[in-house]
Amino acid sequence: MSVSFPDLTLLLEEVEVCRAERLSPSFARFELASPAFAELGTDGPWLDQRIKLVFPHEQGPVPSFAGADSSWYATWLERPVEERGHMRTYTVRDVLGEGVDTRLVVDIVLHDDHDGAEPGPGSSWAARAKVGDRLVVLAPRRGHAYGGIEFAPGAAGRVLLVGDETAVPAIAGILRDLPADASGTALLEVPLTADVQQLTAPAGVEVRWLPRDGRPLGSLVHDAALETLGAAAVPVEVGDDEVDPDLWETPTYSSSGEEVVSEPAGHDDLYVWIAGESKMVTGLRRVLVRDLGLDRRQVAFMGYWRLGVSMSS
Ligand SMILES: Cc1cc2nc3c(=O)[nH]c(=O)nc-3n(C[C@H](O)[C@H](O)[C@H](O)COP(=O)(O)OP(=O)(O)OC[C@H]3O[C@@H](n4cnc5c(N)ncnc54)[C@H](O)[C@@H]3O)c2cc1C
Repeated sequence: MSVSFPDLTLLLEEVEVCRAERLSPSFARFELASPAFAELGTDGPWLDQRIKLVFPHEQGPVPSFAGADSSWYATWLERPVEERGHMRTYTVRDVLGEGVDTRLVVDIVLHDDHDGAEPGPGSSWAARAKVGDRLVVLAPRRGHAYGGIEFAPGAAGRVLLVGDETAVPAIAGILRDLPADASGTALLEVPLTADVQQLTAPAGVEVRWLPRDGRPLGSLVHDAALETLGAAAVPVEVGDDEVDPDLWETPTYSSSGEEVVSEPAGHDDLYVWIAGESKMVTGLRRVLVRDLGLDRRQVAFMGYWRLGVSMSS
């Protein structure tokens, strides 16, 4: 059964897995289908467009949004978890086909919990999902404002994209959609050498994969980012109590309440986009803004997940 709410300015749809593929040890790819995806769309390229997926609870049904209106989120939160399932944030990796045959492609990281406990519902769902399984997608409806794209380089001549495995889909989308004459560097830290993917990117953008293969999370990408900026790779100590799991500092939004500056950056040189585990992002933010003095308007710092913290909505 497909549920459709033409009154909502976004898509909140029950969808079906029409293709499930294990890309590598740490990544699973899903193509999701629904006739309602005929209306899936944004004003421009997808870039790092974020979406929400609502996974059914292990013992529950596919969450129903029957009768949803603009207060759907508050109503959904009031329901018991067995009924409402689990909402998590992901990225549009690609959109294939058209009309009612449009498919939404999502790449999900398969991970353990850091202390050996159960991984989260998103990763657990991805590890067992197969063709025919159903879940709910919250995504932009063509012709309506939705937000959720952070990549905004303005007139910058160079880009530096930095991310861990959870940001690989976003960086892949940005690289795919950059103009052909774009230049810069993309640094992608992934768990294993076997997780390296082939990405489409402009000739002037160097794509560097950094497989951890057992090294500490975030360490490779931290040093490589500083090296790319021509700075010495100084280790930065960030205490666990100094990390905001919801860290989100962009030119237009500040999770710490910093002043948001509306004018574009005063020069057209470099734009830096950083996403991944919040402690890694916090460490890079500290060096880039405090030590190297990068203008806030040139940088987006986004905590996509936090070690030991469930990102439940
Ligand atoms: C804008 C945005 C876009 C995102 N896009 C993607 C995407 O396209 N693909 C993707 O896979 N993720 C993406 N993420 C990250 C994803 O939302 C989180 O990793 C989320 O925590 C996964 O939910 P879960 O149910 O698997 O784990 P949770 O229930 O949130 O967490 C359970 C435990 O697992 C740990 N954990 C969570 N994620 C990881 C991880 N990657 N590696 C190791 N341990 C982890 C937590 O620390 C916690 O201890 C994105 C996040 C944001 C904010």
